[in-house]
Amino acid sequence: MTQYPHLLAPLDLGFTTLKNRVLMGSMHTNLEEAGDWDRVAEFYAARARADVALMVTGGMAPNREGGVFPGAAGLFSDRDMAHHRMVTDRVHGSGGKIAMQILHAGRYAYGPECVSASAVKSPISPFAPKALDEAGIEKQIADIVTAAARAREAGYDGVEIMGSEGYFLNQFLVTRTNRRDDRWGGSYENRMRLPVEVVARVREAVGPDFILIYRISMIDLVPDGSTHAEVVQLAQAVETAGANILNTGIGWHEARVPTIATSVPRAAFAWVTQKLMGKVGIPIITSNRINTPDVAEQVLADGCADMVSMARPFLADPEFVRKAATGRTAQIAPCIACNQACLDHTFSGKVSSCLVNPRACFETELVVTPAETVKSVAVVGAGPAGLSAALTAAERGHRVTLFDRAEQIGGQLNMAKVVPGKEEFRGLVKWYKTMVAERGIALRLGAEVTATDLDDFDEVIVATGVLPRDPVIAGQDGPNVLSYIDVLRGKRPVGRHVAVVGAGGIGFDVCEFLVHEGESPTENLPDWMREWGVSDPATTRSGLAPEGPQPGAPARAVTLLQRKDEKPGKRLGKSTGWIHRAALQMKQVRMIAGVNYEAIAPDGLHISYGAARERPEIITCDTVVLCAGQVPERSLADALMARGRKCHVIGGADVAAELDAKRAIDQGTRLAATL
Ligand code: NAP
Ligand code: SF4
Repeated sequence: MTQYPHLLAPLDLGFTTLKNRVLMGSMHTNLEEAGDWDRVAEFYAARARADVALMVTGGMAPNREGGVFPGAAGLFSDRDMAHHRMVTDRVHGSGGKIAMQILHAGRYAYGPECVSASAVKSPISPFAPKALDEAGIEKQIADIVTAAARAREAGYDGVEIMGSEGYFLNQFLVTRTNRRDDRWGGSYENRMRLPVEVVARVREAVGPDFILIYRISMIDLVPDGSTHAEVVQLAQAVETAGANILNTGIGWHEARVPTIATSVPRAAFAWVTQKLMGKVGIPIITSNRINTPDVAEQVLADGCADMVSMARPFLADPEFVRKAATGRTAQIAPCIACNQACLDHTFSGKVSSCLVNPRACFETELVVTPAETVKSVAVVGAGPAGLSAALTAAERGHRVTLFDRAEQIGGQLNMAKVVPGKEEFRGLVKWYKTMVAERGIALRLGAEVTATDLDDFDEVIVATGVLPRDPVIAGQDGPNVLSYIDVLRGKRPVGRHVAVVGAGGIGFDVCEFLVHEGESPTENLPDWMREWGVSDPATTRSGLAPEGPQPGAPARAVTLLQRKDEKPGKRLGKSTGWIHRAALQMKQVRMIAGVNYEAIAPDGLHISYGAARERPEIITCDTVVLCAGQVPERSLADALMARGRKCHVIGGADVAAELDAKRAIDQGTRLAATL
């Protein structure tokens, strides 16, 4: 008997059967645009081989004006057709099914040719769209229908029509973006005409035995979005028009509510999907922040949906379903919803990957093969760099010993996991523990390693991490000064009024830690919804609480400072920086840029501003916390080199500047793949 009876149950669609209830949701990886279609095919095939029931491709543009950015991939030419065929053939050969997502971005298309219902510019785009006339609308429909017909010709099992997240079809649905007074605007019947017409015409073009998923915006989370009654009306109309499955979309891209970040509670929006259950006759898929088989099973067992969509978890572990089905759940590499290597790469024009699994989207390039010569490998430092090197070396058959002076593995991940909103890091450390045992790595914890201890190893990898940078501020040795390590390890009490020196990733994390007390909202859905102003779309349009965000009172009065004269947090993650800034603003954290640290005294932190050291000010506080960045901890590497011993230095011990777990894990994996 499986642990996951709901998740692993087949789903009969009449003309075809899905082998379980797991959909790999659409992700824009930039792989298609990179042009190496063998790599695209292998990306999907690796997931198909491990039993995901159905996958949806990244969004394919139906035409030039609808592409998310200039040059966005589509299915326009015979050459494109041959490329897509490579994908569908490889997926089918691997026992999988795949649908192509048709994504018309409307006013989110990054270019002056973008089109929409009305000429209303999005707050997150510099381009005002052209309002389409009747012929223009007809052209968009025809292009979407052509894309669907071509998808069938290319061998896809279906299409997903993207109708959510504030894209083109969603823009017609709501008065926020649709100001028309013709048959495509005005009443709700008119506003929903376009998506319904698109679905009906696509169905007509592709025939009955082809999967047609409509991705519906269940909760818009922007002013003047849809009500729940309108969502139900649309869902029923789309079903009648020929959709076989409804997939859930949560929030527009311009919404000021986080919907997939790590601080969003797990399965935070399953209740929204559940509101549609029983109101249509076709299967409904739920999504967002579902990242373990247990959460997915629970969501289905609770009747929130018929199927679950997970996207990023399939970057973290292509074998998610196979491992869940074979009693190896603890071995599933967890997606921690950080966005650092996936969405942040996509938004920077880079190919996506995964912080936890650098092989994601690099399946044909970063290949882990059995070692030709088995070696004894010492890895010193059990943080992300050392752990990834140790796991990969062991996977290749090397005999690995992993050392750390701490009593537990994880390094700085253990600090991240205590920060409210970063609870997912606990699962990551747990996974590393499981895998270290699984791969037979010898662990030597709680003891300092010297250069001579390593004489007998064939290879030595130094991953000793970082030390806090000394900011050299007068008075920093006083009793009122702590380092971030003291704070996050809970070693020393912190006062009620705090100044935080340094507004990098760790400065922001320390602030989050200090302003919260008690249960983290990430682990308490009603609290989280109150904090961000999310309500039931059946009672308030769009699911925005009329009273707005209602954050709890901050546990401490915190001031966050930096010397650079730029917006604090500017260099945080592309897709998540705004969330960190908004979260601290809601907790009334005062953020100050362009300061000089003059001294720390018993009354607080003395600062001045600018090159002329003007406007002296005292930030009155009980505690000053130093988060001034880090420098490499190279003492072991230096000692080894002094003995003439070759070693590999990785992670923070190599370069501390702009170090993050993504770089550390990638570097460790790549090094070990070559030993
Ligand atoms: P960081 O991002 O490099 O930030 C260091 C901070 O210290 C900066 O605000 C810097 O600003 C300040 N600073 C540098 N030298 C200083 C000096 N001599 N005196 C006083 N202040 C000084 O480093 P971090 O915060 O330690 O984070 C380490 C890495 O982990 C980063 O790459 C970060 O991205 C990553 N991380 C990310 C997150 C996240 O995205 N949420 C969370 C944790 C860690 P000024 O020079 O302007 O004063
Ligand atoms: Fe998940 Fe982060 Fe990997 Fe993206 S980079 S898939 S969010 S763990």
